[in-house]
Amino acid sequence: MIVTLVTLLPESGESRPERPQTLNLNLEAAGDPPVAAKPAPAADTDSAPDSDLAAEPALPEPTPQWETITVASGDTLGRLLQDRGVTAAQVHRLVTGHKRLQDLKNIRPGQTFEVLLNEQGELQALKYKPSRIQTITATLTGDGTWQASSEQREYQRRVRFADATINSSLFLAGQAAGMSDNLTMQLANIFGWDVDFVLDIRPGDRFRVLFEELYLDGEKVGEGDILAAEFWNRGRHLTAYQYQDEDGAVAYLDAQGNSMRKAFIRTPVAFSRISSGFNPGRRHPVLNTIRAHKGTDYAAPSGTPIKAAGKGKVIFAGVKGGYGNVIIVQHGRRYTTLYAHMRGFAKGVRVGTRVNQGQTIGYVGSSGLATGPHLHYEFRIDGVHRNPQTVPLPKAQGVSPGNKEQYLAQVRRVNSQMTLFAGAATLARSDVR
Ligand SMILES: [Zn+2]
Repeated sequence: MIVTLVTLLPESGESRPERPQTLNLNLEAAGDPPVAAKPAPAADTDSAPDSDLAAEPALPEPTPQWETITVASGDTLGRLLQDRGVTAAQVHRLVTGHKRLQDLKNIRPGQTFEVLLNEQGELQALKYKPSRIQTITATLTGDGTWQASSEQREYQRRVRFADATINSSLFLAGQAAGMSDNLTMQLANIFGWDVDFVLDIRPGDRFRVLFEELYLDGEKVGEGDILAAEFWNRGRHLTAYQYQDEDGAVAYLDAQGNSMRKAFIRTPVAFSRISSGFNPGRRHPVLNTIRAHKGTDYAAPSGTPIKAAGKGKVIFAGVKGGYGNVIIVQHGRRYTTLYAHMRGFAKGVRVGTRVNQGQTIGYVGSSGLATGPHLHYEFRIDGVHRNPQTVPLPKAQGVSPGNKEQYLAQVRRVNSQMTLFAGAATLARSDVR
């Protein structure tokens, strides 16, 4: 067994700026502060200054106690509260007080909530958790209206490292390194403007990834984002770093601060559906035919989604001789892309439709003169066929000049973190062997 995963607790300096944790949902323009369940201030203890132990314990005023209620099968909020002396009218006022509080009508067995009642059995406050990280607190205000506030817990984030060498397919390599397919797809999307994940991948290509895992109370509850990634593809070394600008927008940039994003994605098919991968002993047969017929062929199962390579407008959607069902998309003034042999078009896609990059426009088929299901893809500049793999394309905006120095410092920091993890992983591997 090869261990390729290392977990470190988040470093002190590495946490990203956090989103506001609390948002207030004022039901009405109630100005009164909520009736909080704060303990009464301790009584005066100055009378016993000599020793804490000798001091007569200060008796606080009796404070209202929160009661936790667990919903059983068949329970309704109304019944649970009325059992505790809350009137039906009060229950009604609570659940109709705000959109957020309406959820209370659909309580489920196993769910818990907390209530705070006064001595007369009147409901003063109620807390419930629509999800593991969110708590809604409803509080009765002095003027008899309900005020609700929502509190969001922060996940604990742990940085993890994975490295893998591709032997048969990207997804298998990711799985072997402990990455979910979802995370591998994130990785592919980061490099999807530079690497054609159907045609460019070769045995021996490898990648390293720093990513976040999300924890609550020590339990893993999900995956966060990729923080940084490296990809070695056919002798090229590509790097990407997650970057958050002043406006909070998150993007991936290269080591110089240029955006990874480009006008065209390299692979116009949903390659996660192409399971066969490549045959390590043989070159991909279609590579040799690119020049011959001025297009690129992607063998893929019938029905595989075809994606618009770039943002643009559909200028043709119909049958075109041996090409079968064809869509042509115009991108700006100079570029067009053509997709042929489609089984059919995506719903709503017709001449004049504006499409976004990566949007599904149709499905792989074998219409027209096709020997088997595949996408025939053409890329033209000013009407001239070009190889989309090699044509230089304009780059999207990266880091602003004012932030570049700070960004480069981030890159150096992440690089040394990556090196540290990679060293630890190598060590772990050699220990196991
Ligand atoms: Zn073709």
